[in-house]
Amino acid sequence: MSDKNKPQKPFSRRSFIQTATMTAATLALPGCSRKDKPVLSTLTGDFDPLRSYPYRGWEDFYRKIWTWDRVVRSTHSANCTGSCSWKVYVRNGVMVREEQAADYPRINADLPDYNPRGCQKGGCFVEYVYSPQRLRYPLIRTGERGEGKWRRATWDEALTLVAEKLLDNVYNHGPDTNTFFSVIPAMSPVSFCAGSRLAHYIGGVFLSFYDWYCDLPPGEPLTWGVQTEACECADWFNSKYIVLWGSNISQTRIPDAHFAYEARYNGAKIVCISPDYNASATHADLYFRINPGTDGILALGVAKLLIDHNWIDALYVKEQTDLALLVLPGTNRFLRESDFKKGGKEDIFYFWDTNQQSAIPTPGSMGSDQKTIQLNGADPALTGTFQVQLADGKTVEVTTVYELLKKELGQYTLDKVAARTGLPAHEIELFAKDLGTRKPAMIIHGAGTNHWFHNDLINRSFILLVALTGNTGKNGGGFNHYVGQERIWPEQGFFKLAFPETRKKQRFQNTTLWSYVHSTSKDPHLYNGKPIEWYIQESVKNGWMPLWPKNGKKPRAFIVWRANYLNQAKGNEILESSLWKDLDLIVDINYRMDTTALYSDVVLPAASYYEKVDINSTDCHSYIHPFGKACEPLFESKTDWDIFHALAEKMAEVATKKGLKPFYDDAFDWNRDFTQLAHDWTGKGAIQTDEQAVNFILGNAEETKGMDYKSLQEKPRRFIATDPESWNSDIEDGVAYTPFKHQLEKKRPWRTLTGRQQFYIDHPWYIELGEALPTFKEPVEEKYPLYWNTPHGRWSIHSTWRDHRAMLRLQRGGPIVYMHPDDARKRGLQDNDWVRIHNEVGHCVCRLQILPGEKPGRVTMYHGWEKFLGFKQGGWQSLTYIKIKPTQLIGKYGHVNFRLNYWGPTGNNRDIKVEVEKAKV
Ligand code: SF4
Repeated sequence: MSDKNKPQKPFSRRSFIQTATMTAATLALPGCSRKDKPVLSTLTGDFDPLRSYPYRGWEDFYRKIWTWDRVVRSTHSANCTGSCSWKVYVRNGVMVREEQAADYPRINADLPDYNPRGCQKGGCFVEYVYSPQRLRYPLIRTGERGEGKWRRATWDEALTLVAEKLLDNVYNHGPDTNTFFSVIPAMSPVSFCAGSRLAHYIGGVFLSFYDWYCDLPPGEPLTWGVQTEACECADWFNSKYIVLWGSNISQTRIPDAHFAYEARYNGAKIVCISPDYNASATHADLYFRINPGTDGILALGVAKLLIDHNWIDALYVKEQTDLALLVLPGTNRFLRESDFKKGGKEDIFYFWDTNQQSAIPTPGSMGSDQKTIQLNGADPALTGTFQVQLADGKTVEVTTVYELLKKELGQYTLDKVAARTGLPAHEIELFAKDLGTRKPAMIIHGAGTNHWFHNDLINRSFILLVALTGNTGKNGGGFNHYVGQERIWPEQGFFKLAFPETRKKQRFQNTTLWSYVHSTSKDPHLYNGKPIEWYIQESVKNGWMPLWPKNGKKPRAFIVWRANYLNQAKGNEILESSLWKDLDLIVDINYRMDTTALYSDVVLPAASYYEKVDINSTDCHSYIHPFGKACEPLFESKTDWDIFHALAEKMAEVATKKGLKPFYDDAFDWNRDFTQLAHDWTGKGAIQTDEQAVNFILGNAEETKGMDYKSLQEKPRRFIATDPESWNSDIEDGVAYTPFKHQLEKKRPWRTLTGRQQFYIDHPWYIELGEALPTFKEPVEEKYPLYWNTPHGRWSIHSTWRDHRAMLRLQRGGPIVYMHPDDARKRGLQDNDWVRIHNEVGHCVCRLQILPGEKPGRVTMYHGWEKFLGFKQGGWQSLTYIKIKPTQLIGKYGHVNFRLNYWGPTGNNRDIKVEVEKAKV
């Protein structure tokens, strides 16, 4: 035995004191600096109690975590909306840890900055990348779908299988039987475009995500003619009244919540409206523990109070909204030029000018020659009735939208609203007064209210509040919706890369409709006495909504990347037993084995967030920053760009070998020559790599002109301009971005039929279904007693990180359902019991957690759990099904037209109800 390994003398108190004295003396010696390490050598000498420990290498290993050879800037794309820049530290080609980059340039010295931004999920992504669920090789299924039996394949074999099937479908069943699904281009547009380009060149159907996930607030396209517009989060600090409505920012906007809480030091009050007492409610000055599904009636009750007490901004309302426009009796349609004169336009509208005492055309509507909404000295009447003579010579009495609104609001008396919402009447009055008098005021809106069936009505009611009080279009004000990372700032560059031969030559499809029609989904409700199928048929027949494939065909191939379609699908068991069975080929491109991958036929391993080149942006801030390749894609994985490039090459190779003649696609008058597919896909060879693709986007967008990938690796850059085609405000130096300044300050028309914020939708279906104006409708009735609430969680971003070891340790390690103690007591349930949650659609079995903060009459399970992660039976989507709202199927109405991820039925899920009982396990 060497001296080093001999057992040491016992460590006595006396010897310790001697050592300590020696150490102190050594340190005190002149010339004995820290560099000479006297302390360390003394402590590791004879008296070191750890000396006998056989293996000290771990200490060195641990120490070396804090050494590295390279630092690469990257981020995460899990649809968290964070878009946080991180540094990834690499040693010997291995990623060892990440750290928040903390170098976002400051907007101005008076605004809190964005540094550092991040969350605990991002802080442990390195571990996820190297975890067992990581996909390493191409896999081909050998057992049943979902059985988990696979064999390893070569890339060549897997790509050949996929290429042959896609081509077979095109020639034998039509290009519309190949379907592509990916989500949120903003979070990694190059990865998105890799597949969308292939779909584009082979004529495949490209599915939406934003409406399907119910992240789209349909009230925005209806009222504002936009997809979603929100201020960047730094602008929260400029507000004096912040209403957190269905948005738990402490949990779901972790990098940005501080802006709201810091705004309190700037004089803001915070209101939190949520059925559960959540992490954001603890920061509120006023907390409303509202009954689930009653947000709409609260908003309309408050609108009534604003009008009754004259807490409105009348000048703003007259200029910026349609509330002064005239409406005909009987038909309840807007008064149009076509009513006044034969051959008159359908898109010119009127208000009553009190100066001229006559109806005059509203400037700025879609048919108006005036490209401004400036009133030019006119004074539109908000109230009253007026006589006008129509083209047929008849005189009729018209009134204003505002008068109709007042009539509609008449039913929402304070007592009624207080009773339905479960809130104290005096606090509702206080809320209305503060909202009407504290300027600027904003609503921060979240999925808590957007995921209801009547989400369009709820959105419209909320937007009405900030319009009546003149807050939209001002820093610190407005209705700001943050659900999903949908907004891609360099939009035009993205479109050119995603759909190169123009978007008009692409088969786009709303996913909610596609999933409903191509499965055995069945909505049992009637709408005005008619089943939803009647509305779907009418909508498709009228050309309002597309439905692919055409002529009663079924989809045959389904390619999913950057998404977990099956896990997140409403009614996923219904889809699994019908739509899934009809598909001949399901391909999943993924870096981890999630539910969709597990239920696929071919799995292609993709590079993770730290192994590829791409860019990232969000509506939460006004910067762009990159993904960087901290290491080469692990195992046999490839970047999404390289995978679709390889697939395009393989399809060209197969087409050449088989001597396939070009396929004539009559829908677009397009001769598709698949032997040239790789050439087309790479932009005739100009865009071979993902870095070239990044530079293509940056160079083709106003927002990022002059930027390139390399400069973004240095630090995040703020956008330099906004393309007026896509945006409604400019980027201004020193000012946080907020939308609709073009409308408020430059008097540019709103992007709606009337050219104003349009609260009155006079489409026949809206009139028939009583929704021409914002109104309150009860949640769609379900038989069971408890609302099934599945919000965004704290320990995952959707299904990503759900299976992360560190995140599971912060919870109970598996799916749990939260229930109020009273509801648990009624059912004889104890904390941690196994419970069966069920309704007429299905059931699942998991553990119960009793939580006093939960609202009685509701149970919550944070969403995203994979079915294979700890449920005894079923999963969180086993209880849901697809419900389509008829009014969301309309089109060809001015500004309301189908557009991918912009307008189409949403996949809502909040109206579901369940019962919970003790499970026998
Ligand atoms: S997961 Fe999202 S919010 Fe969290 S650090 Fe990454 S980018 Fe930021």
